[in-house]
Amino acid sequence: MARKRRFGVAVSREIAEEVDAMARSMNVDRSKIVEEALADFIEEYKHKAEDHKCCGVLIARVSKCGLVERALEMYRDIVVSYTHSHVEGHCICTLVVSGSWQRIRNLQREMVLSGSKARYIPIAHE
Ligand SMILES: [Zn+2]
Ligand SMILES: [Zn+2]
Repeated sequence: MARKRRFGVAVSREIAEEVDAMARSMNVDRSKIVEEALADFIEEYKHKAEDHKCCGVLIARVSKCGLVERALEMYRDIVVSYTHSHVEGHCICTLVVSGSWQRIRNLQREMVLSGSKARYIPIAHE
């Protein structure tokens, strides 16, 4: 295990109570929860800070069938695979993407502008 360093932080009472409750229900100490939350935050921060080669999954709920096809054509260089499913009356698209983060973000914006609700989950960064 990596060496630990202790430092004091002040958080709101509400956050502290949430952390305490989580620690009890997960049966771990507070430090473990704070460390994992910070690790996620740091990864997210690095992912957004500058352009890099990224790969991940873009999930979208499309407002109308066929709306994403144009975007897919424009971004075919970063789309590794694409599935389109109909679930409970919704069009759900799942795209595995790999390429520059800028381009992935532009594809996501394109989908949002065409009325989709799109969410990107990064899996690996270079
Ligand atoms: Zn990334
Ligand atoms: Zn559809």
